[in-house]
Amino acid sequence: MDIGFIGLGEMGGAMVANILKAGHSVRVWNRSPDKAQALAELGAQVVGSPAEAFAGDAVFSMLADDAAMRDVVSASLLEHAPRGLIHVNMATISVSLAEELATAHASRGVHYVAAPVMGRPDVAAAAKLTIVAAGPAEAIDRVQPVFDSIGQKTWRIGSLPQQANVVKLAANFMLASAVETLGEASALLGGHGVAMQDFLDVITNSVFPGPVYQGYGKMIAERRYEPALFKARLGLKDVRLALAAADSVSTPLPVASVVRDSLIEAVAHGDGEKDFAVLGQVASRRAGR
Ligand code: NAP
Repeated sequence: MDIGFIGLGEMGGAMVANILKAGHSVRVWNRSPDKAQALAELGAQVVGSPAEAFAGDAVFSMLADDAAMRDVVSASLLEHAPRGLIHVNMATISVSLAEELATAHASRGVHYVAAPVMGRPDVAAAAKLTIVAAGPAEAIDRVQPVFDSIGQKTWRIGSLPQQANVVKLAANFMLASAVETLGEASALLGGHGVAMQDFLDVITNSVFPGPVYQGYGKMIAERRYEPALFKARLGLKDVRLALAAADSVSTPLPVASVVRDSLIEAVAHGDGEKDFAVLGQVASRRAGR
C-alpha cells in the first residue's frame, strides 16, 4: 500500500520500521524531523508537512494525546485531504475527541478509523501489537494488510470509532488498577517482613498468572522504575481519559479515582517520567517505608 504516517515517537517509529519491512511505501512526518532520519535509511520518504502525509491509500497517526491531535489534524488539513482517503488514528485519545474527529472526517468525505493498540514499544518493535479497531468495515478491510505488518491480531469492535477508544481506556484502567494493588500488596508484605518476590512466585503461578502481574510485579519487587517502558505521566493521562469517558455516561469509577490520585502523587514527587510501576514506591512511602 501507499501510506502516510504521522508521529514517529517510541511507538510510531517502531511501527513504521515494520510497515516498511512488509514492503509498503511510507511517507513519514514528525514534528521533530530528526526522528525521521533512521526511517529514511530504511526506505521511508520524509515529507515536510502533515498535508503531504495525508495522501495515497491511507494515512496513519500515532501522536501523543488529544492536544497533539488537535494541533496536527486541523480543519484545513481535512479540507484539503483527498476524498475517500482513510485516516487510521492509533493513539490513545479521549472518547469525546474520537467522536468529534469521526464527525469532522465524515463531513469532508474522509474515512476515519480508530485503532488504538495494546503493547509497549518493545512489543511494537516485535510487530506483536494487539490492535483494537472500530469504524467503517470497508475502510478497516482495506488497511488490514498494514495492521498485519505491525500486530499479532486485530480485534474489530464496531462501526463507531470511539468504541475502540473505550475498549483501550477500559483496558488501561484495569492495568492501572492491577499495578496499584500490586504496589499496595508489596507495602503490606514489606511491613510483615515477607519478600515481594516470594509472594510473586506464589500468585503468578496460581491465581494471577500473566504478563501484568509478572512484569510489573518484578519491577516493584526490584524497586526498578527506570528505564520506563510505560511512563507514569502517560498512565495518568489514560486514567483521566477513562474517568472522563465514564463521567460522560454517568458511570462512577471509584477505583480509577484512587489510582489517579496515586499517579498524581508520583508526578508530584518528580516521578512522572518513571515507569508506571512507580506506584509501588507511592504505596511504600504512604506506609512510611
Ligand atoms: P512519544 O514517544 O512521546 O511520541 C509522541 C509523538 O507525538 C511524537 O512523534 C511527538 O513529536 C508527537 N507530538 C507530541 N505533541 C505534538 C504536537 N503538539 N504536535 C505534533 N506532534 C506532537 O509517545 P509514544 O509512546 O510513541 O505514544 C504514542 C501514543 O501511543 C500515545 O497516545 C500513547 O498513549 C499510546 N501508547 C503508548 C504505549 C507505550 O507503551 N508507550 C503503548 C500503547 C499506546 P516529537 O517527536 O516532535 O515530540
